Amino acid sequence: MKQKTGAGTNPKYIFVVGGVMSGVGKGVASASIGKILQSRGFEVTAIKIDPYVNVDAGTMNPTEHGEVFVLDDGTECDQDMGNYERFLNRDLTGANYMTTGSIYRTVINKERNLEYGGRCVEVVPHIPLEIIDRIEKARSKADADVAIIEVGGTVGEYQNILFLEAARILKIKKPGAVALVLVSYLPIMNDENELKTKPTQCAARTLNSAGLEPDVILARARMPLDKKRKSKIAFNCNLREEDIISAPDVSSLYEIPVNFERDRLGDVLSEKLGLRPKKSDFGDWKKLVRRIGNATGTVKIGVVGKYFGSGKFILADSYISVIEAIKHAAAFWKVRPEIVWLDAEKISRSQSELKKLSEFGGVIVPGGFGSRGIKGKLKAIEYCREHKIPFLGLCYGMQLAVVEFARNACGLRRADTTEITPKTPQPVIDVLPEQKTNLAAKNYGGTMRLGAYPALLKKGTVAYAAYGKRSVSERHRHRYEVNPEYVAKLEKKGIVFSGISPSGRLMEIMELPKDKHPFFLGTQFHPELKSRPLEPHPLFVEFMKAAIKTKRRTSV
Ligand code: GLN
Repeated sequence: MKQKTGAGTNPKYIFVVGGVMSGVGKGVASASIGKILQSRGFEVTAIKIDPYVNVDAGTMNPTEHGEVFVLDDGTECDQDMGNYERFLNRDLTGANYMTTGSIYRTVINKERNLEYGGRCVEVVPHIPLEIIDRIEKARSKADADVAIIEVGGTVGEYQNILFLEAARILKIKKPGAVALVLVSYLPIMNDENELKTKPTQCAARTLNSAGLEPDVILARARMPLDKKRKSKIAFNCNLREEDIISAPDVSSLYEIPVNFERDRLGDVLSEKLGLRPKKSDFGDWKKLVRRIGNATGTVKIGVVGKYFGSGKFILADSYISVIEAIKHAAAFWKVRPEIVWLDAEKISRSQSELKKLSEFGGVIVPGGFGSRGIKGKLKAIEYCREHKIPFLGLCYGMQLAVVEFARNACGLRRADTTEITPKTPQPVIDVLPEQKTNLAAKNYGGTMRLGAYPALLKKGTVAYAAYGKRSVSERHRHRYEVNPEYVAKLEKKGIVFSGISPSGRLMEIMELPKDKHPFFLGTQFHPELKSRPLEPHPLFVEFMKAAIKTKRRTSV
């Protein structure tokens, strides 16, 4: 529950910028800073600025930019927004997300509408002023005492210079209310285990050339920073030793805020911004970290995907919310999840690859688009259904579970989704009528069913037992739906549509009854987007429970 702290009259702004290189966890660092201040009684919101020209993240392939995260209001955004929501346990809105494309679009529209009163509209100051305006709108909408603003990219790039300019201007406008955190990286040369500070010093200098100085440097590295290196960075970057925070690699993301606090990051930022803590309540979070650390026993979860193109790093990025939701549910049951990536294309080619599924406590078929990997996903679903392996289908995973069931259990041999076979005679999954005109006009951007929609649950079902309530709200991102014309046929053969839209037309959850299968459930929505470490998603919790049981059953 949101707590009113009443200090929103003197708001503070913390810009988080990256130095040296990307991919060192700036998003999680921003979320962790937010968590620390939240635990001291401040209302915190987090804002992401992405430097790309895309208006939102919706048109990007997950292998390009990681998972597309979706907010309640339907905003398609960067996966870091998911980190903010997970750490802060707050629902964010589109106001908390901006890209170069969306900012320029607003400024150009304003100019066309004569909102600049005939003046010459220039990149500086009008673009940074629009950025500041949006930051302030997001902050006041959340009634936040502190806004954390993560600037995408790394200092020294052309791409994000206008965002740094916004920080510089805001600092002039609000003296004492703006702090800058530089997230840097300290590489290790050879085998000497010596952390090199020079790239960090150079990053601070680059920031200086944009008219800014860091207030805090988060020193990401494989290991903790020693005193000598702290003082070296401090001396060369105009800071005190205590302003350099050690940020070593950790085994669980959720340890990061606790780790930062070990170096007193909360005190340092509070002092710099004149924030007087209202309370200290870090207990639940610390408990969570202990739970993860003390987990015993491993549950193997297979994730059948296709966004495997570019190695492990990208892979985990493409399915980050699914991974985190698995971890939340595992922490709930105090077990350690072992997530194994299963390549759908390999499964479709090799029987032995398919049989490997029986080694898993549970199998997830996550969301996706297009025809690649479909055969393998269908085979995996069939195998899980027949061999009673707990199965969770997310969006495309649910649609394909319906196709598989229609083909193999209802005798509709040519059943398909029209996404793959537009002219199928048995379109069990079909496009929404209202989307047909969009697709015909090739209007792909922002034309899906997006954001939170309500669903009503049927009593006596697996879904109802998991949620423990009749009405739920979940996030969507898809064009296709279960075709209402086939619902009766599918139900007759045993599928239970346990979650349905209030209109009664859209099938939101499908499942097999408990006496037929230990856990076989698919959702048209993406439950993973709403799972939080302190509030694991009920469907993932139930899936994990079944996976733990299966494992016990097979290991005796
Ligand atoms: N491709 C499917 C659709 O558009 C599923 C999308 C998804 O899994 N997010 O309906």
